[in-house]
Parts: sequence; structure tokens; C-alpha cells
Amino acid sequence: MAVNRGRALLAAVVAGLGLVAVAASHAAPDTVSLLKVRLGGEGTETRVVIDLDKSASVKVVSDGEADRRVVVMMPGVDAPDGLQGAGRGVVKAWMVDEVQGQARLQMDLAADAKVKRRFLLPPADGIAHYRYVIDLAAVGASGGSVGAPAPAATQSASLTKASGAGPTPAVRTQFLPAKKQPLPLKKVIVIDAGHGGKDVGASGAQGFEKEINLAAALALKARLEKSGRYQVVMTRNSDIYVPLETRVRIAQRANADLFISLHSDSGPTASLKGASVYTLSDKASRRSTQFVSKDDWFMKANLSGDQGVRDILFDLTQRATRNRSAVFAQTLLSNIEGEAPLLRRSHRDAGLVVLLAPDVPAVLLEMGFVNNPEDEARLRDPAARARLMNAVADAIDDHFGAGLKVATR
Ligand SMILES: [Zn+2]
Repeated sequence: MAVNRGRALLAAVVAGLGLVAVAASHAAPDTVSLLKVRLGGEGTETRVVIDLDKSASVKVVSDGEADRRVVVMMPGVDAPDGLQGAGRGVVKAWMVDEVQGQARLQMDLAADAKVKRRFLLPPADGIAHYRYVIDLAAVGASGGSVGAPAPAATQSASLTKASGAGPTPAVRTQFLPAKKQPLPLKKVIVIDAGHGGKDVGASGAQGFEKEINLAAALALKARLEKSGRYQVVMTRNSDIYVPLETRVRIAQRANADLFISLHSDSGPTASLKGASVYTLSDKASRRSTQFVSKDDWFMKANLSGDQGVRDILFDLTQRATRNRSAVFAQTLLSNIEGEAPLLRRSHRDAGLVVLLAPDVPAVLLEMGFVNNPEDEARLRDPAARARLMNAVADAIDDHFGAGLKVATR
């Protein structure tokens, strides 16, 4: 998360404080959706922000003092499947799951720390949803948590609340995990099968792009899940229309470590063939030098695309994220080189929208041209498609396995 966003968040938090007491009395009885979990801060203080579409009551059932784990229950709150992420500051890792119809946020702590304050913020300052804020602060090594064996014994005793806004802490020891294993932390890969439903994409002699994209996405999903290393989130699992904004939102909510969009081209003539990779970049001239010539490496977001998506792309996309995207794109090209011909040509005018959420490295893979007979046959052959997706998965393995050289900003 960029410093700027953190500051903006903090400013919004401070500005919203005065309204807390008002909002807290408006708890809605119907289902609340957990939108996202965000972490901010550095070093010994970490701010956890739970974005909610409505006001909700949040109970801290384990405040971190006993066992280096903070557990928060949210009755009546729905959470997306498998929400999780790497930590920040005193939080080592976190995950959201559902227990007895309630959303549960668990955080493994990287240091002895505990909940310092927590409060609910209503929509304010251009932020349209509620935020539940939990501040965690490191405690001294002599804080008494070492060797404390009974997780249930020390709940919530030292919680402080801001403005009386937070709900009363409740001790619900039955929700505590039976054993203390580290939270499972798999890399989250969002696979976006391009087009779908009424949006058929490019047309080939044998059918539409949308079918190939979905088949490839499902093959990639299967391969990634088989490894056990990834949690895969799909923007679509079937032949349905999913608006671009929804795809962006899915990537944001999932806290994706990587977003990969699968498409198939249609060229102006049937002679064009080969795969290509797109990312968003500061400059269209930034390119991978290893496998393709200068003009082949085309990094460009389509400015004529949907206004909302465009704004999201350019307001929220961060340089570090773009750099990580470019690093992965190069890995991807090197892995698929043996499985598919790579496109060699100047970039064209036809627009592509690379969906990109803040902090989510994203690439768009054009697997080939559906209006080129060779490419279409290759893309429609399940075995060939599986080989290509294996190569994509190998690239993902390489990217996350090899110590990941992330470009510095
Ligand atoms: Zn497409």
C-alpha cells in the first residue's frame, strides 16, 4: 500500500471520528457484506480496516495478548470466500472465514501485540461504506504473554474503545481455533476469463473467444489448485456476462497476489498469429527485452474504454504494482515461449483493457488469434491448451518461488 493511500485513509479516519457515535446506533438488521480488509501502518503499530457495506457489530474474542493471535467475530456479516493476505507491521498474516454463520477475522501476530483501540467509522469524505478500525500495538517483551498457556483466560481485559463507538467486547471462547497452527497463507491468484455471456469476444471459424478463454481459465485453475500453493479466485466460472467493474472489484476484494486475464485475439488479417502479454506501464516503451522485439512488447491501457475502469486504472494503480506486473510478464513470456508461438508485430490500434486493481499486479495474456486457423486449432485443442496453461502455471511458480525480484520504486 502506498504512503499516499495510507495518509488518505488516516485523514479519512481522523475526519470521521466525530461521527462515530451517531453511526453506531444505526446497526442494520439485514445482512452486511464484508468488502475488504486493509492493513496500514509500520513497525509497532498496525491499523486494520474492515470495509463493510453497512454498519455491523464487531466482537474481539481474542485480543492477541494470550497467543499472538487476534480473533474478531462479525455476526450477521457475509464475507467473500477465502479472503486472506500477508501481514504488515505487527500482523504476520490474516484470513477471513465463516464460523457458525458469522464472519471471522483471524490475525497471526509477528510480535507480541494487542488490540489498542477499535471503532466504527460511518461513510464520510467520499468513502461510501462503513469501516471498522482495529489498531494493534506491539507490547514490551515483558508484557506477560510469553508462556501464557490459556488463550481463553485473558480476553479483552484491556480493550479500550474510542468514543464509546465500538460494540461491547464479548468473550466467545468456543470460536477460538482448537490448535495454533499458522494461518494458511496461499498466494491468491485471480483468473479472469475474458468476455462471457452476451459479450462473445472475437469470432473464429469454430466459435467465439469467450469459450476458449473460459476453457483455458478452468485448466489453469485446476493446475494451480493441484499444486496446493494457491488459492484461485475466478471472475467467472461459466458462460456469463461479468462487467469490467465487477472483475476489478473481485480482484480488489480477493487481495490478489496476481491477476491474470486470459483472452484470444482477432487480427485484421488471418495471417497474424501468436501469443502476447500486456501490462499497464508508465510508458508504452517499457518492454521485456528478452524474447520479443521492441514493438511487440505493447503496454498500454485502452483510454477509450469504460470511464470507470479507466479511472480505477490510473488513479489507483501504483508504480510498484506496475513493476511487479512487468517482472511477471517477462517470466510468463519466457515460460510460454516453448508452448505457443509468440507474436511478432507492431502494436495495433485495437484496444485492450487490462483490468488492474490497486496493489494487484496484473497481466493480460492474449493466447493467440482465433481468426488464424493454426492458432484457433491450437487454442481449441484441450491438450495444447493444457500445455499452454501448464506453462502459465510454471511462470506463476517461478514468480512466487524464486525469491521474487521486485523492482524498487
Ligand atoms: Zn478478448
